[in-house]
Amino acid sequence: MTDRYAVIGNPIDHSKSPLIHGLFAQATGQDLHYTALLGETTPGGFARAANAFRAAGGRGLNVTVPFKTDAFAYATELSPDAQLAGAVNALKFEGDRVLGQNFDGIGLVRDVERNLGLAIAGQRVLVLGAGGATRGALLPLARAGASLIVVANRTAEKAKILAQTFVPHAGGTTVEGCGLGALEDRVFDIVFNATSASLSAELPVISPSVFAPGALAYDLVYGKGLTPFLRLARQAGCAQVVDGVGMLAEQAAEAFEWWRGVRPDTRDVIARLTVPLT
Ligand code: NAP
Repeated sequence: MTDRYAVIGNPIDHSKSPLIHGLFAQATGQDLHYTALLGETTPGGFARAANAFRAAGGRGLNVTVPFKTDAFAYATELSPDAQLAGAVNALKFEGDRVLGQNFDGIGLVRDVERNLGLAIAGQRVLVLGAGGATRGALLPLARAGASLIVVANRTAEKAKILAQTFVPHAGGTTVEGCGLGALEDRVFDIVFNATSASLSAELPVISPSVFAPGALAYDLVYGKGLTPFLRLARQAGCAQVVDGVGMLAEQAAEAFEWWRGVRPDTRDVIARLTVPLT
């Protein structure tokens, strides 16, 4: 029987996951059916939808906004990345077991290291924003060996609390949290924009001096072309400015491999979904 998977979110029409997983299945010869589910945002709505999907033979779900914390609560077993992120973006159903994973940060690191060919080890990393994407990114960035991670957020307190929570898990990486205004005189080799500012063509208020000569500027948003953040980075002389299309493809590939045991190549997906940064 054809195995069923889906992405659940609200809204969901914009999701690229059915296209991505369809391409992965085709390329790897996997017999699966992948659809998009519009979840209800009423209390218990996510669990009802997940239960119905499992009862109909569903094997796994990708989870997007606003259900990542509902999926976290729904899982019976969590990976360390999901545990620390407090959010789940992929579920696997095995009988009564519900395994929860968060592949966003792993996807980000894979995109930087494998697709862009840049080492994170030893680098000074700035992460703008202290929301779900940042929470998911911190452990993988520390595992990749960043020497320093500074989380800077519009609401400074959120960044400070997140950094403090994360310190015991950071290994040899120094972790700090602060407000965007506290970045003066600080310089970074990699700057991730993990705020949602680019979704509304806004710019997090930062100084162009945060970019070290030759820095990588990476906006996690995808499909928006040259965002105000990437424009600022380009004007500041960054060697490379990229958006989050590779992260999207890589986190999807992680989930696909977790479900199916076969790793899809992401190059075709990235090529199809890339919007020029102009
Ligand atoms: P979130 O949990 O809603 O957090 C949003 C963050 O953005 C908060 O820290 C918020 O600051 C900050 N923010 C919003 N508007 C801002 C502005 N105008 N200036 C400065 N800061 C602002 O969002 P999320 O889930 O972490 O997602 C963040 C971004 O990552 C989104 O663009 C999303 O599309 C992208 N993303 C991409 C992928 C991928 O696969 N490429 C995966 C996940 C997420 P306050 O705390 O002060 O409100």
